Amino acid sequence: MHGGLKLQHRPASDIETLPTPPTLRIPIQQHQGPAAPVIVTVGESVVCGQPLSMSTDLRQVPVHASLGGTVTDISRTDITITTNDSCATWQPWQASPLPNPHTQQSYINHFHQRGLVGLGGACFPVAAKIDAHKNTTPTLVINAAECDPDICCDEALLQQCGAAVFDGVAIAMQATAASRCVVFIEQGKKTDTAAMQKLVSDAGLHNTDVVAVPAIYPSGAETQMLSHVSGQRVARNSYNTSPPMISFNIGTCYAMSQSIAAGQPLVARITTVIDHNSRARNFSIPIGTPLSHLAASLGLPDTTALEIFSGGRMMRREITLNSVVTKSHNCIEFTVAQPPVSVRECIRCGLCADACPEKLQPQQLYINAKAHNESALVALNLNSCIECRCCDHVCPSKLPLTALYQQAKTDLAVKHRSKLDADIAKQRFDKRALRLQRLEAQKADRLAAKKDTLSNKKSTSTLNKKQLIEQALQRAQAKKQHIAAPASPTNREADQ
Ligand code: SF4
Ligand code: SF4
Repeated sequence: MHGGLKLQHRPASDIETLPTPPTLRIPIQQHQGPAAPVIVTVGESVVCGQPLSMSTDLRQVPVHASLGGTVTDISRTDITITTNDSCATWQPWQASPLPNPHTQQSYINHFHQRGLVGLGGACFPVAAKIDAHKNTTPTLVINAAECDPDICCDEALLQQCGAAVFDGVAIAMQATAASRCVVFIEQGKKTDTAAMQKLVSDAGLHNTDVVAVPAIYPSGAETQMLSHVSGQRVARNSYNTSPPMISFNIGTCYAMSQSIAAGQPLVARITTVIDHNSRARNFSIPIGTPLSHLAASLGLPDTTALEIFSGGRMMRREITLNSVVTKSHNCIEFTVAQPPVSVRECIRCGLCADACPEKLQPQQLYINAKAHNESALVALNLNSCIECRCCDHVCPSKLPLTALYQQAKTDLAVKHRSKLDADIAKQRFDKRALRLQRLEAQKADRLAAKKDTLSNKKSTSTLNKKQLIEQALQRAQAKKQHIAAPASPTNREADQ
């Protein structure tokens, strides 16, 4: 890997359980894709694991009640449940087992119905990912290397539930029809290569390699791993790689094994929570748990004085105390607000380019992002930026480079979307003009045809009239001649 940073990783602590939150607010859409239609109503009692939304479209991932209780509100974005302590654990609510024999389609349907999404942070629907690789025999890439140095939930999961995680890897191999599996771990972790190889052999996995990557951030990023396996640079968010590869985080593998072993939907996730004293703990948190409940359970002081982030120290994004834990939250950090740093001008030191794992030119990106020079940003490959913040970290001028790139990417996406919309609108306008032209031509044809018919009718009727007059005249003439003619001898004899 080019560049990157050597950062101190946090050791993993045991997985703890939170006190049951009195209410849950479950976002209807937590994944990449549209929301599934809600199937419960206000006032309905629900048990843990009961689906709250459902769809057969693989892009519309259903959500489930993460605890039992009563639905007290349904808004456009969330379903609120007042919880009931007696329903706080998973019950196999109408759980239908995976049908036998296990086909790829049955795995896809099973994972979809249980709301499985990638738990590495991207939340891509698992069923849609497998479905997209249906006619291939891909290499399965398992990410057991934590990307951010602050996040330790995956390491905790491996230490406490390693066997179940690798049952999930075996299930993922079957479900994806993978021919080979590569498991990435980070050097220096407690679950080292030997421990991993034992888990691999205990799970009966064949054609599986364990690769230990140096603990250099962001070696655990998906693009870095896929590039490592394919031997060529894989673009960000590129799912149609050649050779075909499909990657899952180990949290996702654990969710797969739970869904097959117990029929359990995705109702909770392991999240690293960092408090204001920078102490990191791992919790199994029901989806939809309010952050205010999390802060109260941790005994945090005045939360209004704290800043809250999702993601670790490198890839974090600010969220508010009003947020809830979703399937995407692998780390939540409460920190004491820091005074703003003073930013200075770029001194063209080039440290950012040395640190960039994507071999981009962060300084050039910065200049062009500030100037809103879109064509230059496209030429400089802005969309390959994985927002790792390595450039921010090394910049002596403390420039907020990644924030600027994120804004520039959003602007580019909006422009791209507007251009697409404008193109679609133009196509519709052109189609309409053609349609109107065609209708006009058809109308003109119809009018011409009508005119022809009318003139034909007219000439026919004129002809008929003439004939009738002639016939009448002929009859009158014949009558006249009959009266004027002298009586014939035959007639006279008859008279006598
Ligand atoms: S590290 Fe900062 S100061 Fe140095 S070239 Fe990059 S943007 Fe400029
Ligand atoms: S944030 Fe983007 S530009 Fe900066 S180092 Fe990471 S990939 Fe490179």
